[in-house]
Amino acid sequence: MTDAVEKRDIPLVNLKAQYRSMSSEIDQAVKTVIYETAFVRGKYVESFERAYAGEYGVKHCISVANGTDAIYISLKMLGIGPGDEVITVANSWISTSETITQTGARPVFVDIDPDYYHIDASKIEEKITPRTKAIVPVHLYGQSCEIVKIKNICEKHNLFLVEDCAQAHFAEHNGQRVGTFGNAGTFSFYPGKNLGAYGDAGAIITNDDDLAQKLRMYANHGAITKHDHLIEGINSRMDGLQAAILTAKLPHIYEWNRKRYEHALAFNKLLADVKDIAIPQVRENGIHIFHIYAIRSERRDELQKFLQGRGINTGIHYPVALPYMTAYKYLGHSPDDFPVAYTYQKQILSLPMYPELTTDDIDFIVKAIKDFFG
Ligand SMILES: *Cc1c(COP(=O)(O)O)cnc(C)c1O
Repeated sequence: MTDAVEKRDIPLVNLKAQYRSMSSEIDQAVKTVIYETAFVRGKYVESFERAYAGEYGVKHCISVANGTDAIYISLKMLGIGPGDEVITVANSWISTSETITQTGARPVFVDIDPDYYHIDASKIEEKITPRTKAIVPVHLYGQSCEIVKIKNICEKHNLFLVEDCAQAHFAEHNGQRVGTFGNAGTFSFYPGKNLGAYGDAGAIITNDDDLAQKLRMYANHGAITKHDHLIEGINSRMDGLQAAILTAKLPHIYEWNRKRYEHALAFNKLLADVKDIAIPQVRENGIHIFHIYAIRSERRDELQKFLQGRGINTGIHYPVALPYMTAYKYLGHSPDDFPVAYTYQKQILSLPMYPELTTDDIDFIVKAIKDFFG
């Protein structure tokens, strides 16, 4: 007789648990915005911008409709356009590269480094041409990439630096928050991000007064004051409900990030002796906020199915590296252009990660992984 195998229902992210932990604050925030009909921009958006800029100690926070627009608007207002090239990383969400194309420029991909899965800073300079105007690195999974090296490359070659911080709210490198190294830092508040709204929302932070003015203008139809359209812009505004929800959540972010970090360390410790997987490595002198806890296995697809059978939901970030997507077929890339990204796209697997994850669930997930590898 064999024991029945226990099955649970562990989600990849758990937004319900977070809502339950602060439902009265959220409900109150939503009611207030509706009562005051402060739906688009307005005082709740302004107060969120002030609060976010304040937490970062930067001069400007410009709220926008989502994290994709945050990148697009930044590149566009830095003057990137047709004929230009922008260097970015082979493994990210497509927002990072599609926004480059949106400006009229061409995305130029760089492979990832084998240990941290970030843009490989040692392979950037070989991709720089006279057309290169900017670098968009991604602080993937919640950890800073080699941002100081990249900033130095930008200074040496006179390139703009736009940091994609969509997965890295309040992550740090050498005591400095990511998003404050470059000309602009862009954020997404998509619901599943570490700081998430209840719909789409995004923001750009910068210390550059002139750039801030342009960003604000472009995101709001090219106008700073109503009906005075200095340029044509776009409609990319945060709405009041999202701003009020984010303002209510903001004081909790450090605690949520810390809990994720603790869960990640627990996973790392318990999985250290599993020879068949690679666990995430944490860079020294930083704060990793573990938006995603990704392991690697050569038997990734089988493992994912096995875990699903025990009620453990996992994800893949991302199953196809950007240069190999159909959208970029025209660039004609082959597997040996980005050998690390090409290999890893078949191996990476994201385990459940959220602040409310319990020690008991972590143990259950670890046991399932150990059972799989026998
Ligand atoms: C989520 C994400 C974005 C885009 O954010 P949206 O708010 O969904 O538009 C951009 N880059 C990365 C790396 C992301 O993870």
